Amino acid sequence: MNQISPKANKWLHCLEANGCRATMTRRAVVETLAGSQRALTPLEIFDLCRSQYKNMGLVTVYRTVEKLEELGLVQRVHQPSGCQAFIAAADGHQHLLICQNCGLVTFFSGENEMIEGLMDQVSNQSGYQINSHWLQLFGYCASCREPAKNPQFNR
Ligand SMILES: [Zn+2]
Ligand SMILES: [Zn+2]
Repeated sequence: MNQISPKANKWLHCLEANGCRATMTRRAVVETLAGSQRALTPLEIFDLCRSQYKNMGLVTVYRTVEKLEELGLVQRVHQPSGCQAFIAAADGHQHLLICQNCGLVTFFSGENEMIEGLMDQVSNQSGYQINSHWLQLFGYCASCREPAKNPQFNR
């Protein structure tokens, strides 16, 4: 296998520290997800890894992804079909932008005063003590918006 990325390496260390041996198939799942800018479902990860690892099992993919989520290394991305896709978790509080065409996931800072201020406002109005929030915005990324590249959008 090629040189493993620093992020994937960190994830593997975390997995090992939590009782998951770094098998070849588990490494492949970690590398695929750590290196992806698109949110991937376990089935997509399975398909991407299967060409190289004939003995890859869907159960391995599910278990590895579950463990990575438990460790806070990946986060779920909402999709119309449910929250089954995963992306590498951002450092600190971030908001997500998700392209509905190519699946690109971009983070933008959670240090946005207007959005965080809105949470205070909602808290004051509802009487809730708000501990956390998730913000995911859906649309088309800059390159998918370009009509020349994607005539189907035509805007
Ligand atoms: Zn896009
Ligand atoms: Zn926020």
